[in-house]
Amino acid sequence: MQISTGKVVSIDYTLTDDKKQVLDSSDGGDPLTYLHGVGQLISGLEKELDGKSAGDSLQVTIKPEDGYGVRDDSSLMVVPKKSIQGVGELKIGMQLHASGGHGRQVVTITKIEGDEVTLDANHPLAGATLHFDVTIRDVRDATEEEVAHGHVHGPGGHHH
Ligand code: ZN
Repeated sequence: MQISTGKVVSIDYTLTDDKKQVLDSSDGGDPLTYLHGVGQLISGLEKELDGKSAGDSLQVTIKPEDGYGVRDDSSLMVVPKKSIQGVGELKIGMQLHASGGHGRQVVTITKIEGDEVTLDANHPLAGATLHFDVTIRDVRDATEEEVAHGHVHGPGGHHH
């Protein structure tokens, strides 16, 4: 069975960056199971998986614009240290939940200087070229209920 919109797909994958550092992997855990064609995966990876079958392996390089987006310097903001409270000692790389004009978002501390902290609202993988090593484990038809809900039920999916 080939992967197309409305199929439930299980994949084993390893994601590495340009320095061959592993960013994410299903290795040692369950495969990732998702509903194909509804935007659950980044668009560049869905496009490459389209038409492939169980047992296929592929190596895919995805540019930032097809992955987590390009970095946007207007997403940097400088705030006073004292405006960040309740998270303990501030460290570079720390991620915080901020609520602002665009609703809740995750921001990363990228600079601490004197009484000022620079927060970066870009996705941590924005601007990164992504290298996926994928093996397709299973492809099946989604049930009507899964299509209606827009996600997978059962093993590897939602339970409710
Ligand atoms: Zn559901």
